Amino acid sequence: MISAVLPTYNRAPLSFVSGAGAWLTEADGRRFLDFGSGIAVNALGHAHPALVAALTEQAGRLWHVSNIYTIPEQERLAAMLVDLTFADTVFFTNSGTETAELAIKMARKFHYENGQPERVNIVAFEGAFHGRSTGAIAAAGSEKMVKGFGPLMPGFVHLKWADHEALKAAITDQTCAVIIEPVQGEGGIRPVPDQCLKGLREICDATGTLLIFDEVQCGMGRTGRLFAHEWAGVTPDIMMVAKGIGGGFPLGALLATERAASGMVAGTHGSTYGGNPLGCAVGAKVLEIIADPAFLDHVNRVSGHLLQGLDSLVARHPTVFAGVRGVGLILGLKCVATNTDVVKAGYDAGILTVAAADNVLRLLPPLTLTESEATEALSRLDAAAIALETATKVA
Ligand SMILES: *Cc1c(COP(=O)(O)O)cnc(C)c1O
Repeated sequence: MISAVLPTYNRAPLSFVSGAGAWLTEADGRRFLDFGSGIAVNALGHAHPALVAALTEQAGRLWHVSNIYTIPEQERLAAMLVDLTFADTVFFTNSGTETAELAIKMARKFHYENGQPERVNIVAFEGAFHGRSTGAIAAAGSEKMVKGFGPLMPGFVHLKWADHEALKAAITDQTCAVIIEPVQGEGGIRPVPDQCLKGLREICDATGTLLIFDEVQCGMGRTGRLFAHEWAGVTPDIMMVAKGIGGGFPLGALLATERAASGMVAGTHGSTYGGNPLGCAVGAKVLEIIADPAFLDHVNRVSGHLLQGLDSLVARHPTVFAGVRGVGLILGLKCVATNTDVVKAGYDAGILTVAAADNVLRLLPPLTLTESEATEALSRLDAAAIALETATKVA
């Protein structure tokens, strides 16, 4: 018999009753270091006092009003994002996949209004993840996500990851946009080299193609800069943000330049909940904290500490781990053992991690992680690796 909850997840036999900072607690009191953060969502950890205060203050005043009215909390968060980024304008959503939908619509509408309605094709990359809506699965295009869900939305071209020559050849007079994650998350924590992002920007400029960065997972301070693309010194025309931006409250944002957004006039897009006062009040507090240069320094410092320890962890356990990848606190351990076995061994050792493609173990701790918590995480990962090695010897 089918479960009451649609069984689309392989769920771990763990459930939590409370959280504080980087820690989650089960009903029996067992505590886990959370190196998944709800998949990069709880950027400030669990129950951050400033977020609890922002949420409860707003909850006592006003939760929801329609976007047919002016929403001051939304205007404030949009102005903050415009101030801090390349963007001139922002549309708020409740999730990452909704930002993919708008990015696709906005890019196509731009060329349509520009007298080039034939420019509809969007170039995307193998291993990408842009969400689960029909548009977003067509964009990512992997067999695993699209099988059985056809007919898919047409107009996507898929290229091998970071293949510059293939990219040049793939951009034609029918190309609308290129969509890419500056650091692939689900695809196995694969940072696109700065040179490739620069080259991509040049090709897009030369051909009038819009550049869309999907920073849903790698944005909001996760790499040690407010947005990952800042490391490469290039900016997109359109950027998708979600996950960390709400710190646990469902919130997403589509950022764009005035030019890229020029076709999106009144009546072309909307959302019932997107940009509601509750989400935006929390989002403004999250952004205020993360955008502080001292906070980003902290992310880089803890990342450096963690990376050092991870290198030696890999060296000590060559039959479990093959290498470290990633930047800031979006890190991956390429595994020799099966990554899902390492995740399970982590559960036993009291640390939560997340599997990704390419047999990678994802480490996405809260950005508020302390150095001593990082040290504790390393010793728990060490214990997990030892348990796996022992199990292999016995078998
Ligand atoms: C999670 C994710 C999405 C989809 O976000 P949802 O909020 O799950 O819809 C899109 N792009 C990337 C890179 C993601 O990691």
